[in-house]
Amino acid sequence: MKTMEANSYQQITQNNEVSIEMDLLQVGSEPVGMRCPYCQEDVMTKAHYINTSLTHIIALVLGILFWWLCCCIIPYVTKRWKNVEHYCPNCRRFLGIYSRNKLF
Ligand SMILES: [Zn+2]
Repeated sequence: MKTMEANSYQQITQNNEVSIEMDLLQVGSEPVGMRCPYCQEDVMTKAHYINTSLTHIIALVLGILFWWLCCCIIPYVTKRWKNVEHYCPNCRRFLGIYSRNKLF
């Protein structure tokens, strides 16, 4: 009888994990707390900010218009125009990406 209870409990936790995995797709631009689907740990994701073609275009435009202010480095130091890749700090697996395709 005891093993039956254990089995049904396991079934419930497995169902919960499926719904958590669905939420993984909705990552934002900042690190988020989530359960890693690979190592099953509650982690705060590690965010990597990736330069996109948009980053370079803005840098070029700012560099041409405001070259005397050295504005061309702004897109590289702000997170506004970068894609964000989320990784698990525990097992270092890729968890999701947040991509920007808007200027503002
Ligand atoms: Zn992990």
